[in-house]
Amino acid sequence: MIYLTLCLTHDCNLRCGYCYAGRKRAVSMSRKTAFRSIDFGLQQACREGKALGKMPEIQIGFFGGEPLLEWTLLQECREYAEAESSRAGINLKWTLTTNMTLLTEERVVWLMEKGFHLGLSMDGNAAMHGVWRNYPDGRSSHAECVAALEWFKGREHRAELICVVNPANVKHLEESVRWMGGPAGWTSC
Ligand code: SF4
Repeated sequence: MIYLTLCLTHDCNLRCGYCYAGRKRAVSMSRKTAFRSIDFGLQQACREGKALGKMPEIQIGFFGGEPLLEWTLLQECREYAEAESSRAGINLKWTLTTNMTLLTEERVVWLMEKGFHLGLSMDGNAAMHGVWRNYPDGRSSHAECVAALEWFKGREHRAELICVVNPANVKHLEESVRWMGGPAGWTSC
């Protein structure tokens, strides 16, 4: 399996204290670069499949910065890779990691229909999440994450919550795990 990760933008609407994505800049990947990267990944998958004597496989992931800032480009990449891989007989898998704040119900439904495995970055309950996962003005992004969780309820999905635990927020971990499986209604974390 070939793994291709596309960072569609250097920008993000959050400023998490532990972020390792570097300085936030409103610089996005061009469509041409994105498509050429996909072409390269598909070529590598074909090469690997041939060498191993099995069906070529590739997993394409979108990572940050926050990929949902480039929603149109993301959809275009999905469409392009789907067409190219089906022409070449390549098995394709999709992943997306998001801070959840730019999800809408319509986007969640689209991502589910398109077979994405979603990594949802949410550190825990309000106390734990608010230690690090904040907007530039210091406001916590917890409320937006909680709102987004609602769109997953009652729907079959392939999504997981990603919680970053470190010395500054670990004291809230036990309560957070209880909250996620209880009031937050997240049963698959
Ligand atoms: S959401 Fe991700 S990319 Fe954005 S600041 Fe937080 S850790 Fe960094």
